[in-house]
Amino acid sequence: MERQKYLVTGGAGFIGSHLVDALLARGEPVVVLDDLSTGRLENLAAARERGDFRFVQGSVLDASLVDELMRECGSVVHLAAAVGVKLIVERPLNSFTVNTKGTETVIESAHRHDRRVILASTSEIYGKNSRGPLTEASDRILGSPSVPRWSYSTAKAVDEILAELYRREYGLRATVVRFFNTVGPRQSPAYGMVIPRFARQAVRGEPLTVYGTGRQSRCFLHVADVVEALLALIDLPGAVGETFNIGSDEEITILDLAERIIARAGSTSSVRLLTYNEAYGPGFEDMERRVPDTAKLRAFTGWRPRRDLDDVLADAVADAVAEARAELGRQAGDPVAEAPAQQGATAVRTVLAGPCSV
Ligand code: UDP
Repeated sequence: MERQKYLVTGGAGFIGSHLVDALLARGEPVVVLDDLSTGRLENLAAARERGDFRFVQGSVLDASLVDELMRECGSVVHLAAAVGVKLIVERPLNSFTVNTKGTETVIESAHRHDRRVILASTSEIYGKNSRGPLTEASDRILGSPSVPRWSYSTAKAVDEILAELYRREYGLRATVVRFFNTVGPRQSPAYGMVIPRFARQAVRGEPLTVYGTGRQSRCFLHVADVVEALLALIDLPGAVGETFNIGSDEEITILDLAERIIARAGSTSSVRLLTYNEAYGPGFEDMERRVPDTAKLRAFTGWRPRRDLDDVLADAVADAVAEARAELGRQAGDPVAEAPAQQGATAVRTVLAGPCSV
């Protein structure tokens, strides 16, 4: 029997490319649609070697392209979105349009072809609700829609509402997944996410930029555990019409996180406190605490995270070291850039002996 093909929108991105690798490893054919706005072709280097993989550069706003690809696939995992607080604050209109119109295009097309949909949403849905742990039914607490962060939250809520209404009125087979903070290889520091930024700063011996008091807390899940949750849900008939939090429950303040990363990198970096105003400009609002309740995901699938924060930080530091090695190598024409990356502090000391000597 021919295996069903998966359409992964945003498949050249951070989470998407890891999902693509995992689907291909399971022997499932995959088509990726990505406009490469934040996604990178390098993320698909391994996938592109394979015969059961196809990459299409294009936008989820292109309805006829989406429709053509939807026709040939059995399911769609819709990950294409403008993500990252920094990007959303800097380009709020583009983010809003991609996140609402793009999703509407994908959902309409999935409905037309009667395809199963996994829709990526976000913990930003809960807004400033800092009570934790948050269940899928927890309230959304938002500030003014003129604050880009809340317009992003609203755009993703519109996506969820669309999926739910198509399900109720037309029987669309959709599952919503709300990603909490996710970290791992291939996550670019360019869009503001805290762990790749701190890891890079520590490896370079620069101060780690902690915003606000640093007492705000988050839980960080390794991308490999996120992919395992997605794979568990992707074909689960009981997951249709349901919404799931995907996240870690290992909570840490941002200040403690900075210190853990400095220690792990063997760095002499200091911590520099910046106001939100300095970091993001006026009117920015953060949430004090964000902790997911993942009981529902565990009950439906038996999923458990298999990596802890130490694993997450080891990978983040190794990634930052590899990046710094490559950069140094390029600058100096140094063959060290070609050598395989080492993990952790040893590599930091070897490669960046100057700023990170301990
Ligand atoms: N943050 C920080 N320094 C940075 C980047 C982020 O202190 O260089 C803080 C940010 O204000 C937030 C937390 O780290 O309180 C997590 O930020 P991120 O953008 O990674 O995720 P989110 O805000 O969506 O949880």
